[in-house]
Amino acid sequence: MTDRLPGFNTLAIHAGAAPDKTTGARATPIYQTASFVFDDVDHAASLFGLQAFGNIYSRITNPTNAVLEERIAALEGGTAAVAVASGHAAEFLTMNALMQPGDEFIAANKLYGGSINQFNHAYKNFGWNVVWADTDDPSSFERAITPRTRAIFCESIANPGGVVTDIAALSDIAKRHNIPLVVDNTMATPYLIRPFEHGADIVVHSATKFLGGHGNSIGGLVVDGGTFNWAGDDRYPTLSKPRPEYAEMVLAENFGNFAFAIAIRVLGLRDLGPALAPFNAFLILNGIETLPLRMQRHCDNALAIANHLAHHPAVAWVSYPGLETDRYHGLARRYSPLGSGAVFTIGLKGGYEAGVKLVSNLQLFSHLANIGDTRSLVIHPASTTHRQLTDPQKITAGAGPEVVRLSIGLEDPADLIEDLDAALA
Ligand SMILES: *Cc1c(COP(=O)(O)O)cnc(C)c1O
Repeated sequence: MTDRLPGFNTLAIHAGAAPDKTTGARATPIYQTASFVFDDVDHAASLFGLQAFGNIYSRITNPTNAVLEERIAALEGGTAAVAVASGHAAEFLTMNALMQPGDEFIAANKLYGGSINQFNHAYKNFGWNVVWADTDDPSSFERAITPRTRAIFCESIANPGGVVTDIAALSDIAKRHNIPLVVDNTMATPYLIRPFEHGADIVVHSATKFLGGHGNSIGGLVVDGGTFNWAGDDRYPTLSKPRPEYAEMVLAENFGNFAFAIAIRVLGLRDLGPALAPFNAFLILNGIETLPLRMQRHCDNALAIANHLAHHPAVAWVSYPGLETDRYHGLARRYSPLGSGAVFTIGLKGGYEAGVKLVSNLQLFSHLANIGDTRSLVIHPASTTHRQLTDPQKITAGAGPEVVRLSIGLEDPADLIEDLDAALA
């Protein structure tokens, strides 16, 4: 082998994994154990004091999860990663490491609905305040910055699809004000977009979606870009102040460019507890092995179907950045040249009734609340996920009465088109 770094396809299969030293097992074993025996008393003491790396208890580290962590860090180009129980846990532990009561963060207004709820409501209990900015207008983020701002949060390709974020523009603003940029890369995955290459400092994932890819397990990841200098920065006491529970150790000084990942693990996972089950880590690892193949097929299928629907007489509009006429096509070509992902929305000329009929009539598409499965999925947000909102709120959230969201799977596109045509007729 030369000094050349392995390519993305190779990393997706091999990063973090080696044959099991004891048994020779080639697939990563599921270490289904709660705890790990210490070599001796001194070893135990050094593990508890963070003087040595090793396993204590699977709430904090687990060897199966460690392979997943190394793999995603390699695919994203980060310094370290932490596997957690869900995408929401990844967002929560990230903010827990950055925020103190009374602090603020600025979030893009085009986000996964669950993130909007988490930020608006659950975070109130912690005294963390979200300030919303316009995804399409980077200057609105800069205008929202105050002395209490501790992070900027956006999605690379925003749920419910069709929106591509100008990550570099947000990174410029974040760097000017010395604030970390957190990017939720769930919809794009590192196959399509690697946010660290555009100036992000932290990446979070719902591994439930395209990384796992088979709709069979909930999981999340936090990836440390190693780019932000926390040392000596009083705004981030979790990282920059002595930790009483670790003999006054300062994480930023002790762990340098992977201090953020350490904070997520030894304070977030240890104290708050949303650990990923090793069995789920195993399933997500299996999914990632075929991520490049699957994502390309997802994108190719989605483009074919978006094109077909854009010319369908029952369809008023299609919001998919892969279409040349789309307002985000330029950003998509710049940030996501391999494809625009698998999730997008359409508007039906027949409004609410037509949306309800379409989801009821489809046979091959599953009517459910998820994305990123091998199977094609469909949902009518106005009658389901966004039901509780008023009509104006629905429209702002991109969930007007006529809107249907599709997550295109890996089936033959001709079969998907036939199913859509029959259901629309
Ligand atoms: C699903 C999703 C989440 C939440 O992840 P869970 O694994 O369901 O907790 C966060 N962000 C985006 C973009 C998502 O699609």
